[in-house]
Amino acid sequence: MFLTISTTGSAERPATDLGFLLHKHPEKAQAFSTSYGTAHVLYPEADAERCTAALLLEVDAVALVRRGKGKGRGGAPDAALAQYVNDRPYAASSLLAVALSGVFSSAMRGVCAARPELPEQPRPLRIEVPALPARGGPELVRRLFEPLGWTVTAEPVALDAEFPEWGDSRYVRLVLESDTLTLAEALRHLYVLLPVLDDAKHYWVASDEVDKLLRAGEGWLPAHPEQKLITSRYLSRRWSLTRQAMERLELVRLAEADDSDVEEIDNAVAAETESEEKPTPLAVRRREAILAALHACGAARVLDLGCGQGQLVQALLKDPSFTEIVGVDVSMRALTIASRRLKLDRMGERQAARVRLFQGSLAYTDKRLKGYDAAVLSEVIEHLDLPRLPALEYAVFGAARPRTVLVTTPNVEYNVRWETLPAGHVRHGDHRFEWTREEFRAWARTVAERHGYGVGFVPVGPDDPEVGPPTQMAVFTADTVKEAKAA
Ligand code: SAH
Repeated sequence: MFLTISTTGSAERPATDLGFLLHKHPEKAQAFSTSYGTAHVLYPEADAERCTAALLLEVDAVALVRRGKGKGRGGAPDAALAQYVNDRPYAASSLLAVALSGVFSSAMRGVCAARPELPEQPRPLRIEVPALPARGGPELVRRLFEPLGWTVTAEPVALDAEFPEWGDSRYVRLVLESDTLTLAEALRHLYVLLPVLDDAKHYWVASDEVDKLLRAGEGWLPAHPEQKLITSRYLSRRWSLTRQAMERLELVRLAEADDSDVEEIDNAVAAETESEEKPTPLAVRRREAILAALHACGAARVLDLGCGQGQLVQALLKDPSFTEIVGVDVSMRALTIASRRLKLDRMGERQAARVRLFQGSLAYTDKRLKGYDAAVLSEVIEHLDLPRLPALEYAVFGAARPRTVLVTTPNVEYNVRWETLPAGHVRHGDHRFEWTREEFRAWARTVAERHGYGVGFVPVGPDDPEVGPPTQMAVFTADTVKEAKAA
């Protein structure tokens, strides 16, 4: 099994940077043992103009079978023989994907300690896989790689070069070329799509495969036109896992739908209402109001649920009264941006011990959310479809049960004050609803009543005498008397 990655360069941007990106020195041939055999990394060429890294996987077919992982799906009577006499050692397949992720794990995550700026820069890439088993043929290969920005050459490999009349094998020679992708993106595409094309995963698919798929698919899978085929084949057609993955991808897609324009709109709202002095953006007002409410309740350990790109987490970190800060979001992309903003990888040990980010959906109960002093849901509820809201209510107020919960959401009445917003429109494309003050209060009171909390309301931003403030905030406090009685 064989794959090469090439790049071109110049004196200023030498192609040999590939060695830094892959964390493998171009002058050394290196070997790594994997559970299926040995992976070799070598550079057939390495100078400023051109550099090629080759990954060669020598599969130990016997070890593969002994590990009990060589079985294909099902157990046909001749499967025993097929385990020994098969194409595994020669063809690129899911094993190559496993080797890629093992040998180039930092590169796949886009991490390069020596040259932190490198992984983010797209560079000319050419990837060649001489023999790729491709169920679905060259046509499917193109449908999978072209939407990702690759120029694809996929030639069927003849069954036997001397006897062209025998027709084509199920292999293609694949060449991928692009100038617009980063190496990390390229590796993540291969990691997912090689096994998808092979379509015969060699090991039993466990549920953590869903996490692996979503991690590797970050930034490209949610929008891929063949997402369903990719997901189902990657998960070896295990329907329950496929369904779970599709649902999570859908959440990611919804969550990522243009969250970029939130602040812009907020700024516009604030600018119009406070034209005198330099406006304070509404987002800033909101963070100030949240910090004040957290101080008022004496919270030290705080959850930021639906933390988005981490602005609030950053503000909380600057304040030593918060000893533990946890940001949770369903969007991996948002979390990646948040961790860059916070410089999590370069943070001192003490700071790092105070903060954590993880992916999760608020529509499901989650043990990791239990036992905190306070939870913040800042501009999050309106991103859920109304029928999903009770699930969030239960996960937060019923299961996680922080002592204090702060919920902010737009006040739809205020929208008339925003001249450029056409009548009847919500402020943000992904808002499923926007509530009046009365609607929000009614919801909040019901939730408080149902789960044993008291609730009060705080206006955020200029409180208009007629239509109220642009943002409304509810402060829920657990009813300790009731809790004590219940215990
Ligand atoms: N709290 C931030 C971001 C608000 S945007 C702020 O105040 O600026 C809404 C965020 O909620 C997005 O980052 C979105 O990814 C997240 N989100 C939406 N549905 C979610 C769900 N079911 N579980 C967790 N996060 C969710």
